[in-house]
Amino acid sequence: MSGTLHHRHPGDGWVQCGDHQHWGLHGAAGLFLVRRAPPAPGGRPGRVTEVVLQHRATWSHHGGTWGIPGGAVAPGETPTQGALREAAEEAGVDPASVRVVAEHVLDHGVWTYTTVLAETLEGRRTHVSATDPESIEVRWVPVDDVAGLDLHPAFAASLPHLMTLLDDQR
Ligand SMILES: [Zn+2]
Repeated sequence: MSGTLHHRHPGDGWVQCGDHQHWGLHGAAGLFLVRRAPPAPGGRPGRVTEVVLQHRATWSHHGGTWGIPGGAVAPGETPTQGALREAAEEAGVDPASVRVVAEHVLDHGVWTYTTVLAETLEGRRTHVSATDPESIEVRWVPVDDVAGLDLHPAFAASLPHLMTLLDDQR
């Protein structure tokens, strides 16, 4: 999520949604980047082995929890473009090093959050790192370790469905 302390973009701002607020005048988007084991004989894609998670800065919303890099979508930008831009800014992800495979939209009517699911090319462990103050750390996390982390509640709620979507790619 883009904060107010730095790198402001068009599209930054709060949207009132019933009794609560969301970040992103044009919605928000995040990148869920995974890598897979080598394909099985016959070419079936391998299982997801690791995912990129962001340990969120303590001052941010739900600070100290783990989630995915992302933020407000800018005007004229698709959610996928926004997620890739934010992942480049926050996590050093080179957009040329990943392949987008699916999107999942959480629709609140006046506001949407799009999780862009992507995988690295040929299962590579691409370089990622915390590249702005919104993160304490960004790293590859073994998929079996994810549930043991203190996850951002919205990410935790969507995670089972996201993993199902990735499994459907196989
Ligand atoms: Zn809402």
